[in-house]
Amino acid sequence: MEPTLLTSPPATRSPRGRRTSPKVRADWERLSQEIRACRRCPLGRQRTHAVVYRGSLAPRVVFVGEAPGAEEDRQGIPFVGRSGRRLDAAIRTLGLGAGAYGVLNVLKCRPPANRFDPKAARTCRPFLDRQLSLLRPALLVTLGAHALRAIDPDAPPVLTAAGRLRAGADPPLFPLIHPAAALRSRRWSDRWDRDLAALGEWLRTGPGTNL
Ligand code: SF4
Repeated sequence: MEPTLLTSPPATRSPRGRRTSPKVRADWERLSQEIRACRRCPLGRQRTHAVVYRGSLAPRVVFVGEAPGAEEDRQGIPFVGRSGRRLDAAIRTLGLGAGAYGVLNVLKCRPPANRFDPKAARTCRPFLDRQLSLLRPALLVTLGAHALRAIDPDAPPVLTAAGRLRAGADPPLFPLIHPAAALRSRRWSDRWDRDLAALGEWLRTGPGTNL
């Protein structure tokens, strides 16, 4: 059985995927509906759509951003704006096919002016934990400082942490800068490319290589 795809992310090849049981699919659907109906924090009253996930239900890698932006809020899909296109290009470069990855955010609802809201993130956190316990990725890749801090509060600043594996994390954690930063200047674009090459090396040799 092929892994379930919740949207149609770009795929360059079709890797073998883990199977997802009917129970996992049912639990995922219930959780997604819960998120879409949530009003636990003030962001729930301002959003157009709660943004749950895109990708496989049996991913090898899950990319974790901080929060939906305007386009994500409008479409209800994570990373569909300019930085999403940069991320998708990176995913193609890494050779991750459609069944091998997923994309989500720490916050499921867009914060005003795209300003990350740590208090809302604490309220929202159980949703992320439940998502990850169903997805069971072999690797988490955080995108930017807020996602890194939310997943690993003891991590050093993102510019120190990005581009190398965080030892001791379970699942293993590989921080990157935010793809939006890579769009801002040649300097950050070069940094993004460098860190991506290091991530590609880990994927060629790290756990779950055969997934
Ligand atoms: S951000 Fe999270 S906790 Fe707040 S309303 Fe949205 S889904 Fe609920």
